[in-house]
Amino acid sequence: MMANHLNYDLLSKLAEHRASALDEARAERHLESCGRCRSELEWLQRIRVGPRQDPELGSSGPSRRDWLLPSSF
Ligand SMILES: [Zn+2]
Repeated sequence: MMANHLNYDLLSKLAEHRASALDEARAERHLESCGRCRSELEWLQRIRVGPRQDPELGSSGPSRRDWLLPSSF
């Protein structure tokens, strides 16, 4: 099965609890079976919670990792 991974936009909405109920439900179903998106979401939630300590770190900070955006969009 070729499920599309959750895209960055949706993941960041989820991390900020701004996603619609429908999106959230759909995402949750995907996350249940996709460890990759789950860890991306956890990572996003982490950087959203703790970016206060040193804004300067942002410049060379956490590399964006290799987001696998669905290229078939
Ligand atoms: Zn996924």
